Amino acid sequence: MGESKTVHSALVTYTSVISLLTLCPPFVILLWYTMVHADGSVLQTFEYLKQHGLQGLKDILPAPSPIAWKLIACFGAFEAILQLTLPGKRVEGPISPNGNIPVYKANGLQAYAVTLVTYLSLWWFGIFNPAIVYDHLGEIYSALVMGSLVFCLFLYLKGHVAPSSSDSGSSGNFIIDFYWGMELYPRIGKHFDIKVFTNCRFGMISWAVLAVTYCIKQYEMNGQVSDSMLVNTVLMLVYITKFFWWEAGYWCTMDIAHDRAGFYICWGCLVWVPSIYTSPGMYLVNHPVSLGTQLALFILVSGLLCIYINYDCDRQRQEFRRTNGKCLIWGKAPSKIVASYRTEKGETKTSLLLTSGWWGVSRHFHYVPEILAAFFWTVPALFNHFLPYFYVLFLTILLFDRAKRDDDRCASKYGKYWKMYCNKVPYRVIPGIY
Ligand code: NDP
Repeated sequence: MGESKTVHSALVTYTSVISLLTLCPPFVILLWYTMVHADGSVLQTFEYLKQHGLQGLKDILPAPSPIAWKLIACFGAFEAILQLTLPGKRVEGPISPNGNIPVYKANGLQAYAVTLVTYLSLWWFGIFNPAIVYDHLGEIYSALVMGSLVFCLFLYLKGHVAPSSSDSGSSGNFIIDFYWGMELYPRIGKHFDIKVFTNCRFGMISWAVLAVTYCIKQYEMNGQVSDSMLVNTVLMLVYITKFFWWEAGYWCTMDIAHDRAGFYICWGCLVWVPSIYTSPGMYLVNHPVSLGTQLALFILVSGLLCIYINYDCDRQRQEFRRTNGKCLIWGKAPSKIVASYRTEKGETKTSLLLTSGWWGVSRHFHYVPEILAAFFWTVPALFNHFLPYFYVLFLTILLFDRAKRDDDRCASKYGKYWKMYCNKVPYRVIPGIY
C-alpha cells in the first residue's frame, strides 16, 4: 500500500502489479508442464507453443478435476483443524502500526509433524498413495490458481465489509487493494488467523508434503530414490523444520508484521510456494541424477551450513530484541543503536537496532545463506537445464527487492537512526559489493 508510493514510481508499481497478476498464474502451469511433460526443457515448451500457438496452450492447461479439489479440500481442512485444535504456547506478535498486539497459538511444529507422520502412515499402510498427488499435479495447480484468486477476492471483500482489526485500510484503488491486501491481521472469528493458515500451514506444509511426494513417486517409478533426490529432499525438509521451529519468530517478520493479506502474500503462499518452491524436486522425479557419496555429502553439508547461518541470523536479531539487548552476540555484549520513532498515533517509541554479529556484516546478510541454501538443494539436478534454477533466480530477485523495500521502510521509520546504522554497516546485502 504505502510502500508502493515510497519505493517505486506509480508507473513501475502498476506495470509490475498487473504483470504479476496476469503472468504468474499461467507461469505456474507452464512450469509444471515443462518439468513433467517436456523433460524440464524451456526450449521444448517454447517450440511446442511456437508450433501450436494459443490452441496448444489451451491443450496443455489441465482443468481442475474433482480429485484435485478433493485433495486440496482434505489438506486445507486438515491443516485448519490442526491450527485450531493442537495445543501451543500463547505468543504475542509485534505491536502493529495502530497499536494492536496480535496473539497467536504456537503449534506449527506440532502441525507439521502430525501432517508428515499422517501422510507417511497413509502411504505405509496402503491407505493412500502419494503418487496420486504427483499424477494429478497439473489439475491440482489449476484448482489452486483459481481457488486462490477467489480467496483473494474474499480477502478484499472482507477488508471492506468486516475487517478484524483497525490495522486495515483501502488505498482507494481496487487493483492495489487486491494485490497488496487491505488487512494486516485478518481472522475468522477470534482465533483463526488467516495469514498463519495461508503462509505457514498451507504454504510451508504443502512444500514439505510435495517434497516427500516427489521422493515416493521416484521410488515407485524406479524402485529406489536417487542420491540427488535424497539431498534435495533432506535439505528442503531441514529448512522447513527450521521454519516451524522458529515459526513464532516468523510472526515478527515483514510477511506478517508489514505485508497485508492480499494476492502478493496469500496467493503467493497458497500457489507459488507449492508449485515454484518445490520445483527442483518436481524436476528430479524423472531426472534421477547419481551424484556419488562424496559429492552428495559435500552438497548436503554445504546446504545444512547455509540453513544454519540463516537461522542464526534470525535468532540473533530475535534474541537481541527479546532480551532488550541484554544478550551475548558472538560471545560479546552487542553493539547497538537506540532508535526512537513515532507511531501512526503520534506516540514516541524506541527500538533497538543490532549493529554487531551478522547484523554488523551487512544490513540484510541473512538473505545470502537463504539464497545459497536454495542453490544447494537445486544443484543436485546438475546443469542440463535452467528451469530447476528458476526458484534460485526468483528468490534472489525477491530478496534483493525486499532488502530495498525494508531499507526504505526502516529509513522512513527511524530517520537519522537508520542513517547512523547505514554509516556503521554500509552494505545492504553482500559485504563489499552491494
Ligand atoms: P527480517 O526478519 O530481516 O526483518 C526485517 C525487520 O527487522 C526490519 O523491518 C526491522 O523491523 C528489523 N530490523 C532491521 N534491521 C535490524 C537490526 N539491525 N536490528 C534489529 N532489528 C532490525 O525480515 P524478513 O522477513 O525479510 O526475513 C525473515 C526470514 O525469512 C529470513 O531468514 C529470510 O531469509 C526469510 N525469507 C524467506 C523468503 C523465501 O521466500 N524463502 C522470503 C522472505 C524472507 P522493525 O520495524 O521491527 O525495526
